[in-house]
Amino acid sequence: MDIKITKTKNPGVMPKESELGFGRVFSDHMFVMDWEEGIGWHNERIIPFGNISLHPASTVLHYGAEIFEGLKAYRTESGSIQLFRPLENIKRMNTSAERMCLPQLDEDMALEILEAFVKLEERWVPYSFGTSLYLRPYMFGNDESLGVHTVKRATYMIIASPSGSYYKEGINPVKIMIENEDVRTVRGGTGYAKCGGNYAASTRAGERASKKGYSQVLWLDGVERKYIEEVGAMNVMFKINGEIVTPALTGSILPGITRKSCIEVLKSFGYKVSERLLSVDELIGALKEGKLEEAWGTGTAAVVSPIGKLMYDDVEYDVNGGKIGEVTQKLYDTLTGIQWGKLDDKFGWVYKL
Ligand SMILES: *Cc1c(COP(=O)(O)O)cnc(C)c1O
Repeated sequence: MDIKITKTKNPGVMPKESELGFGRVFSDHMFVMDWEEGIGWHNERIIPFGNISLHPASTVLHYGAEIFEGLKAYRTESGSIQLFRPLENIKRMNTSAERMCLPQLDEDMALEILEAFVKLEERWVPYSFGTSLYLRPYMFGNDESLGVHTVKRATYMIIASPSGSYYKEGINPVKIMIENEDVRTVRGGTGYAKCGGNYAASTRAGERASKKGYSQVLWLDGVERKYIEEVGAMNVMFKINGEIVTPALTGSILPGITRKSCIEVLKSFGYKVSERLLSVDELIGALKEGKLEEAWGTGTAAVVSPIGKLMYDDVEYDVNGGKIGEVTQKLYDTLTGIQWGKLDDKFGWVYKL
């Protein structure tokens, strides 16, 4: 593969690391390649970061043909740069692409592209623990016609944004509201695909929760509104009476790479981990009996996010006295330790550049 590189003539300024937020500042360049039916992927290029131009009838603007990924480039203490399970992101993007009738990526090629891009943007990977260069690969359909069909043209891009530590003031348990009006997705829908449309449809519930003073919603399944699915845009885990429980991947849940990694880490610690259906009644029952010991969300951005309060039917319940639990803390320390290169990578998850 031959990536054509056009370097920027106006290199940007890296903000102070203590002032980095999330997704507001972008690195100097972006990766772009095109796909056309019968031709395949072509015109791989890295160009200066900037606006793109789209035909007004472009598929993505009308029918939402868009999928994305999110992963980070981490700086280790020795100054080297590493990724965390990047092949998992590429495989998931292909699963999402299949669901949305977008073209497949060749895994090796996609990994090579990611590596070349991060190496070029090396100076944008911040140095402090907890900070990273957030990578956003995405793909969209851009047929220049309003006909509804499988796309015949698509674009794959990667942009990068230096990001601050998610927990600037330490890990604070969040307040979560159990949502019983909106649903995120349904089985048979697009819940397992990382597509923009899922986010568009779930924003309203998040906004409503935020107005009531909650940071996110806990989603229930779209068919019976009975089973726990995810928390905001994270997977969710509970420690109930000594057992770790996380919703099974029924098709309406996004298969998180952090979720998968947490399960492996927890099992290596000797915990019993069950991927199963968990009803809201069982959860509230456990809360009332004092058997819900810990609750947390998992995702690339926050790694793990402890849940300190849960609200259901206008009653607010405390989880672990509103404090971060022992398992949650251990998971956070282990995963971030591996990601930032402070701990031995005994699982073989790190991809060094
Ligand atoms: C991306 C995402 C997650 C977390 O996935 P990770 O691979 O752990 O970052 C969970 N739920 C939703 C809806 C997501 O979009």
